[in-house]
Amino acid sequence: MPDVAVVGSGPNGLAAAAVMARAGLSVEVHEAAGTIGGGTRTAELMLAGHLHDICSAVHPMALASPFFRAFDLQRRIGLVVPELSFASPLDGGRAALGYHSLDRTVEALGRDGAAYRRLLGPLVSRIEGVMDLTQNQLLRVPRDPVAAALFGLRTFEQGSPLWNARFREALAPALLSGVAAHAVSQLPSLAASGAGLMLTALAHAQGWPIPLGGSAAIAAALAADIRDHGGVIRTGEPVDSLEQLGGAHATLLDVAPRGLLDIAGDELPARYRRTLESFRYGNGSCKVDYILSGPVPWAAPELADAGTVHVGGTREELARAENEVAAGKHPERPYVLVAQPSRFDSGRAPAGRHILWAYCHVPAGSTRDMGGAVTAQLERFAPGFRDVVVQARVTTAAELATYNRNYIGGDFSAGIMDMRGLLQRPVVSTVPWRTPLRGVYLCSSSTPPGPGVTGMPGYFAAKHALKDIFGLDVPALGLQ
Ligand SMILES: Cc1cc2nc3c(=O)[nH]c(=O)nc-3n(C[C@H](O)[C@H](O)[C@H](O)COP(=O)(O)OP(=O)(O)OC[C@H]3O[C@@H](n4cnc5c(N)ncnc54)[C@H](O)[C@@H]3O)c2cc1C
Repeated sequence: MPDVAVVGSGPNGLAAAAVMARAGLSVEVHEAAGTIGGGTRTAELMLAGHLHDICSAVHPMALASPFFRAFDLQRRIGLVVPELSFASPLDGGRAALGYHSLDRTVEALGRDGAAYRRLLGPLVSRIEGVMDLTQNQLLRVPRDPVAAALFGLRTFEQGSPLWNARFREALAPALLSGVAAHAVSQLPSLAASGAGLMLTALAHAQGWPIPLGGSAAIAAALAADIRDHGGVIRTGEPVDSLEQLGGAHATLLDVAPRGLLDIAGDELPARYRRTLESFRYGNGSCKVDYILSGPVPWAAPELADAGTVHVGGTREELARAENEVAAGKHPERPYVLVAQPSRFDSGRAPAGRHILWAYCHVPAGSTRDMGGAVTAQLERFAPGFRDVVVQARVTTAAELATYNRNYIGGDFSAGIMDMRGLLQRPVVSTVPWRTPLRGVYLCSSSTPPGPGVTGMPGYFAAKHALKDIFGLDVPALGLQ
């Protein structure tokens, strides 16, 4: 019988397992799928030698998450930081460019550059405070109240109908909304604005890294550390009940609330069970992976150097597309998130070839193939795109839900991203990772601080389990 059982090997399950193994406990990880990684898997999806990230591709948190920093992730894997973090193309060959350098971004934004600096500059210079506020749970006193106030005021502004008040042109608003729309939420809204400002400030503070070899490198680094400290990882082992885990002293579940109900529903108190049953999931995504015979022929040539491109046009167009999804519709012109990993990592495709990673938001449970709409949006801003496509592969939201049981209805955030959804993850509590069952903890992105490859939900769950069950503090996690 191990001291600790972990169910699920997504970045949060692996982070939790690494913390527990480092504390000297015996740890067993059980993963339903045939490979580890959850949302951090990289695979040859179509042709040999072309390595696609199945889920996450770009990692704003790789250098910023307190867990990854303590774990020395940066020294364990190769991370490339594109100088052009993200961009939003507009019709007519123009594009809004979000550089790692705030100064360069301000310069490229022309007449609205100064207004953009006034919005982002204070957040960039207090990035530690912004991270403390957003990479934690909301029910606590922030460590840097000034950063919290600056962030809060800007979140209200950019999440309200006043969001264009400080701008005169289309570029800066398109740039900001391209990032805010990551939240799979209405635009404007507080949750999207907060997520967008945090990610934008991070882009200027430290960039949006792309791991060499793909996102699987992150899972591999975590798994290596777990094994180095005596942990065991079993794949192809779905867990359907707590009994299956053989009575470990602590159980950390990298599962959605629905997964917790499946595993331990009968044992949970009725009130908590009802809360889990009424937990709200968000809308889904439809993924499109491409193999290209060359780089994307962007009309705005600068986009060749962007790690991430937010395709969809102006702020108003992005808002229309996202609000259609929020209303349960499939947008004809969707907002498309695009990453160009092989521009920065030549190992991802054979010489001359490129892979392209793209997805768009769709209503929960959607079975619609959005490949045509995604390709049309790319063709709109990169005329001739269709001609460089060698092969494409579509994964609908319903298929994503089958691929990973945490993605209910294709919602890879494992819980809706609105203000209530951020506060109630999955319960309103100062220790939301703890369940009413002694020794059983939730550690997935259905707990704070929520989605993204951060390791933080896993870290927090492990921290509480260590204290509650073993009377231990979090051990050192870094390389010697
Ligand atoms: C298309 C797409 C694009 C994304 N892009 C990005 C991005 O660029 N950057 C970013 O930071 N994030 C991105 N994300 C989100 C990111 O992948 C997730 O937020 C993150 O992986 C959540 O980590 P997790 O450990 O909580 O869960 P997951 O990564 O979902 O892992 C959960 C694991 O638990 C396993 N599991 C569940 N139930 C059981 C069970 N009962 N028994 C055994 N095993 C079980 C699952 O098989 C899975 O392997 C993206 C996601 C998708 C789908």
